[in-house]
Parts: sequence; structure tokens; C-alpha cells
Amino acid sequence: MEYQTLYRRWRPGTFEDVVGQQHVVTTLYHAIEKGRVAHAYLFTGPRGTGKTSIAKIFAKALNCLEPQGAEACDHCANCSRISEGTFLDVIEIDAASNRGIDEIRDLREKVRFAPAEGKYKIYIIDEVHMLTTEAFNALLKTLEEPPQFVVFILATTEIHKIPVTILSRCQRFDFKRFTVAEIKGRLSRILTAEGVTEWSDRGLELIAEHAEGGMRDALGLLEQVLAHGQGRLAEETVRAILGLTSEEAVAALAAAISSHNTGGALAVLSRVNQEGKDIYQFGRSLVGHFRDLLLAEVSGAGDGSGSAADLLRAIEVLADATYEVKRSQQSSLPLELALIKLTAPGLDYAGLEQRLARLERLLDGQAVPLAAAPQPPALAPAISGPKEASVSSQPELHRPQSPVPAPESTPPQTAPPATAGSGAKFDWNEFLEAVKKKKRTLAALIQEGKPLQWDEEQLIVGLPPNLKFHLENLSLAQNRELLESILHEVTGKQVRISCVPATEGTPEAKAGRSAPAAPAAPSVPEPLAKAMAIFGGEVKPITSPKEEKE
Ligand SMILES: [Zn+2]
Repeated sequence: MEYQTLYRRWRPGTFEDVVGQQHVVTTLYHAIEKGRVAHAYLFTGPRGTGKTSIAKIFAKALNCLEPQGAEACDHCANCSRISEGTFLDVIEIDAASNRGIDEIRDLREKVRFAPAEGKYKIYIIDEVHMLTTEAFNALLKTLEEPPQFVVFILATTEIHKIPVTILSRCQRFDFKRFTVAEIKGRLSRILTAEGVTEWSDRGLELIAEHAEGGMRDALGLLEQVLAHGQGRLAEETVRAILGLTSEEAVAALAAAISSHNTGGALAVLSRVNQEGKDIYQFGRSLVGHFRDLLLAEVSGAGDGSGSAADLLRAIEVLADATYEVKRSQQSSLPLELALIKLTAPGLDYAGLEQRLARLERLLDGQAVPLAAAPQPPALAPAISGPKEASVSSQPELHRPQSPVPAPESTPPQTAPPATAGSGAKFDWNEFLEAVKKKKRTLAALIQEGKPLQWDEEQLIVGLPPNLKFHLENLSLAQNRELLESILHEVTGKQVRISCVPATEGTPEAKAGRSAPAAPAAPSVPEPLAKAMAIFGGEVKPITSPKEEKE
């Protein structure tokens, strides 16, 4: 007996054998059951998703000598010969070869002849999008007036190349990629049936992942691995055949990215390169790794290895680079650039923009609860420091190089605008990220606030006054100390942190009317008064970032 590939040997023989594609199987089964078989079907979907297998099962079910309901018996003479490809009334045409010119001409001549052996004459045209225009026209003529006993099954991976005139005459089925679990399940059943008793579960999973939803590719890989491993399936064999790097290298590189360790990240990549591993596959593994982290993060099961936004960005940058690696035929340069982008964000303007946008969203989000706060004062007080610019338009506070001016009742007119400051910068976002890494619950509290003032000695964070729980907890000694130690790590400065209630977004400001710059005797909360005593400044209504944008 000639050797059959695993794929051919384990092709599903009946509807019941089919893995996945339940929507297709059920519809076809009922069509036969109810005697409502259409004259033309179009199966579309990625390669290896079972289009021709199901076409053959359908052909068997239509011509079986001993059908059980709508299901073929899979062992009568007709079924066997359809499986072997020798049944005269099941005609398989591969449109990819010779673009179908001769076959379609032949089809036009013979389509009117009654079936020779079975009840139905079934034409299975694979890769139908490859037909020439003439062949399509010839096919269309037949589809317009098909003989009663003829069923066409057209299969394609590229539905957009099929003329609308053909599409409109077919019942269409969209085949989906198999999930990793479906492929894994099928492979393990086949292994058992083949007499393999032990195998690496991770190895099987790698094959399933690598097949990208195609069962034929998965079985081809499985066969290769079994041949190399002399009938055994070890993870190392799978990795060697797929050119995969060890998970240790992926994890090491991911850790280097998370800790912004440019040198470390490039060293791992260089090692992978020197070992002669497939850089494209390595890029794919990296993307997969970050994808897993992101899914865990958004489902609340994250280990804090990065915010969802950071992980998303890493995936985008790495996926682009991996695509470039493929295009540039395995040069590792695109991945090297991606690693530098991700680990040295200072060089990356797009990343900076993203961080600014995030801060803006944070500030926008604040305006909502503030506007809805019960009984807002007629003119909400807010601290304005010695600098003229408001916090909302300056996400990164620049510390003026000149010493903090002595307390005054009005801000000095000569204070430099914040943007002009060239002194040490304080990045609120960076600080929030650092807090998140240390203690998520604390980050959840402080991210409701925004920095009102930053200088050599003190960071004042304003929170909506209605967030009493936040304010109280942030004032607890242990939380304050932790925040201060994180601030020290981020900025290298020993700075005190005060969290104070601060209101903004008054009805006046919302209406767009100009409000007096110094309202008469506004009520100032005590901590603000203290802050003002230390830093100077004034109390005035401020507009929310949303309004400024308009
Ligand atoms: Zn049969």
C-alpha cells in the first residue's frame, strides 16, 4: 500500500468526524435531510480549514448507497471510491493548474450528461479564484441553468477575486481558522490512534500555535516532528524544526523591555542571532508573549509586568518589526530598532505623544466627577503657584531653576513660563507607573489626583474634595512614606508629598464667561491655605482641559 500522509490518512470521512466548522456541517446536513440541496456552494476560508474535506463528505452523503439519515456510511462502494478519488461522478478540478481552461471546457461539454454511477454529479473546483475570465464566463453559463443532478462546490482562499455574478449564484459558507485547542485536540487523538503513547504537551501546543489555524499545516508539522524524533514528540524537536528559540530567551528579552534595559535587550537578540535561530519566528514568539501578558492584564489576572497601554504599544512595535524582518529576509535590524524604541522611550516621539495623550485623558476623566460634585462652590478655589501656566496644559512640570520665591499674596509677574524652564523635570505619568509597580491599590488612589505643585521640597497633589476615602488613605503615614520613597526613586529627590482637596470646573467656567481673576474672599480649604502660605499663589477659577480644547 502506498504511503499516505497523516493529513490524508486522518481526513474526516463523515460529518460527525469533522472538527470545528459546525455552522457549515449543520447547514449541509439539514439541506440533505430536508431534500433542499442547492446547485452551487461556495466554500471560502484560509487554507487547511477543511473546505475540500467537507466538500467530499457532502459528495459522499449525496451518493452513499447506505446512508444513515443525512450521513454517509463511509464504507459502501460509492463512499470508498469517492474517498479514493476514483468515483466518476465526483469531479475534482484544481483551478490553480493551467488556470482551469481545459477542465472548464470539458465541464461545459459533459455537464449535461446524467451521472454515470450515482444520484448526483458533483464538481469540486478548488482555488476557483484562479480561473481565467473565459473560464469564469463558461462556468457562469452552466451555473445559470444547471441540470437537476449537478451540484457545484467552489472552494477559494481569496473570495474577493470571485466575480459578483458567480457569488450571487452560490450559497456561501465561511470557514473559520481552527483554534489552537481544536488543533491540539485533533492532534492528540491522532497520536493516540497512531500508537504514540507519550508526547510533550507543550510541543503539541507549539505545533498547534504555529499552524495558524490550518489543520493541514498542523498535521504536516506533526508528521515532520515524528519523523525526526523517530516516532517520539519532544518539545526540543518541535523547537528545532520550527526554528523556535527557547522560552527562556523570550522571557529574558521581555524582562529587558519591561525594565527599559536597552543593552540587555540587544544582547539577548544578538545571542539568538548567533545561535542561528529564525529571527522572524523569534519576533512572533515575542509578540505572542506580550499578547498573553496583555490578555492577562485586561482580564484582571495580570502580574503587573506592565500597564495595558504599555503592553499594547510593545505588541504594536514588535509586530511591525517582525513583519519588517520577514520582508527584509531575516535581517535583525528592524527588531533591533524596535527594542531601542521600547527600551529608550526618550528617543521615541510617538511614545511620548502617547504618554501625553494618556495624561490628557486622565485629566479629562477628572472633570466629570468634579462637575457632578454636590453643591459646587460658586467660585471654586484652586492653587496657582508662582508659575503662570496651569497644570492641565503642562503635563510635565518644569521646576524653575531660580529658587522658589518668598510667600507673596499675588504671583510675581516676572515668573518664567513653565515651558521655558530648563530645570529638572517631574513626570507625573512616570511617577504613576512607578507607584503601580509597587502597590496597585495605592496607584488607584493617587491616579485620581493631579499634580498642582512641584519643587525642591514638596509635591502637592490635588484630588476632588468628594473623594474623602482617597484623601484620608493617601494621608496615612505608611502610604505617604511609600509614595515619597517611590518619588525619590523616580526623581532622585527627597520630596514631601501632600494630597489636598482641590476643586475645579465651576458652572461659570463651563458657561465660558470670564471670571474675575481674584474673587472676593473665596473659601480656601485649610491645606490649600497652608500650601499658599508656603508657596505663594492665588485662588482663581480654572477651566477644565476639555473646555480649553474647544
Ligand atoms: Zn456509503
